[in-house]
Amino acid sequence: MSFMRKITISTDKAHINNFIIQIINHDLALGKHTYIHTRFAPEPNGYLHIGHAKSIYLNFSIANFYNGQCNLRFDDTNPVKENIEFIEAIKNDILWLGFKWSGQIHYSSDYFDQLYEYAKELIVNGLAYVDYLSYDKIREYRGTLTQPGTNSPYRDRSVEENLTLFEKMRCGEFTEGSACLRAKIDMKSPFIVMRDPVLYRIKYNSHHRTGTKWCIYPMYDFTHCICDAIEGITHSLCTLEFQDNRRLYDWILDNISIDNHPRQYEFSRLNIEYTIMSKRKLNILVNNNIVEGWDDPRMPTIAGLRNRGYTAASIREFCRRIGVTKQDHNIEIAALEACLREELNESTPRTMAVINPIKIIINNLPVGYHEKIVMPNHPNKTDMGTRQVTFSSEIYIDCSDFKEHNTNKQYKRLVLGQKVRLRHAYVITAESLVKNKQGDITVVYCSYDPDTLNKVPKKSDSNKVIGVIHWVSAIDGIKSEFRLYDSIFTLPNINKIDNLMLALNKQSLIIRHGIVEASILNLVHNNDKLYRYQFEREGYFCTDNYYLNKCIPVFHRIMKLK
Ligand code: ATP
Ligand code: MG
Repeated sequence: MSFMRKITISTDKAHINNFIIQIINHDLALGKHTYIHTRFAPEPNGYLHIGHAKSIYLNFSIANFYNGQCNLRFDDTNPVKENIEFIEAIKNDILWLGFKWSGQIHYSSDYFDQLYEYAKELIVNGLAYVDYLSYDKIREYRGTLTQPGTNSPYRDRSVEENLTLFEKMRCGEFTEGSACLRAKIDMKSPFIVMRDPVLYRIKYNSHHRTGTKWCIYPMYDFTHCICDAIEGITHSLCTLEFQDNRRLYDWILDNISIDNHPRQYEFSRLNIEYTIMSKRKLNILVNNNIVEGWDDPRMPTIAGLRNRGYTAASIREFCRRIGVTKQDHNIEIAALEACLREELNESTPRTMAVINPIKIIINNLPVGYHEKIVMPNHPNKTDMGTRQVTFSSEIYIDCSDFKEHNTNKQYKRLVLGQKVRLRHAYVITAESLVKNKQGDITVVYCSYDPDTLNKVPKKSDSNKVIGVIHWVSAIDGIKSEFRLYDSIFTLPNINKIDNLMLALNKQSLIIRHGIVEASILNLVHNNDKLYRYQFEREGYFCTDNYYLNKCIPVFHRIMKLK
């Protein structure tokens, strides 16, 4: 216990608890460690997604909780798929989420020289060999879960021969795929990862950091454990699919001369319904122009969620709520939305926007009439102040809020011959309408009751509950574009489906042109910032600076109201 006391835990950090925290507490109590060091080690082959946020939150909060350290290490061992755009995006997303790595950024490629020496050490100890089998043959010889593997005919080369051949691999004397370095473990192991896994393969690709210095690149399993050990990581946290690989992680560290032996622990991946959590699959959406980019607001990437209007705090809160276990789960998107909804309900100014406008002309007001009505910016937060909204003889309402005929008693909106209240304004009655040649309603003529501004309707209205609809003045309302998002896929368990293209939601983006209250110009002071609103009865929306060149404001729908 004495070691535990050395570590100060401030109370505001004491909210995380999970099985990994319990393991760490146990290690500290036993004196196995006096200091906690974690790492987040993404492969820079795409943008980070919300699944990575779970891992980031876990690794960085643990370091924070124990006053330890969390490294950021780019796992850049495959020059074919990795690039600098991804590295920059990943750094940016981590910082945006509110986390900062300890010290400088690390790269697996920083250790290529050391990794090469450790590989030679395995060869010298008779624990690795250069194989000439093709990748297909290696796979064939590997066996299956029910069938043991078969030894490669090249398995028993001498140490000297292996050292020479490995050096030749390094010098570029082999073509890609014609030779590789494999660990010599056990082709009959019940764990397929232990059946002589490949440690190095040949690739004649320039690396974004090491250029053409190397034409052999170490595999993930060989690299990861050694990098962890070199960096002094104490707890190496990863997702459950690496459970079997833990044996290889330990085998490698046990068989090279390195002092530190970090321990790997696995937790379950985050999956969310109707979306995919794999950079490789998200890349398919980007490359096939299904979305506009990695940061498209429909994407489950951190950058996409940010453009969609998510706050870093809401994503952290989501990670806190889902916790860390070993159970697989497919979380409802509503659980993520709830974290932001609670925040937006408190923080967003209420505003009116008409997304599918239909014109209303008030018969009993003179043409051009307008007046200012003061409205609260939030129903129960007076500190958010008020704004002045123009009411005029011509306004817009949403076409879904008007019906010529209605038999549905639940429909509490405007119907020809009946009344409705305009939000924070007057009661109007629909009197007549005009249709175009196609039969669509173009204008509804109404009368207004001047005695109903913010008053409950008079008793004479037979105590009927009058519906309330939102509206925008035609005099100063601002033409705007609304981008209405839905999930990219039509199936909740899309993570398990091979052909993503068959489950695409063709309605994942609907663009509408409508009108928003002029007051948004007062609320939007600064183009660099993203502003969030609750458009009454429509949902939460945010501004988009990306589309500013369109000359009209563009709003993303973050989510519908409940
Ligand atoms: P992807 O398939 O999206 O590329 P990955 O696991 O290959 O995922 P890495 O870049 O290697 O991606 O991930 C860095 C860290 O993030 C790893 O520790 C990984 O386990 C973790 N991680 C990735 N996806 C998830 C997820 N859905 N839930 C929780 N952690 C995740
Ligand atoms: Mg990967």
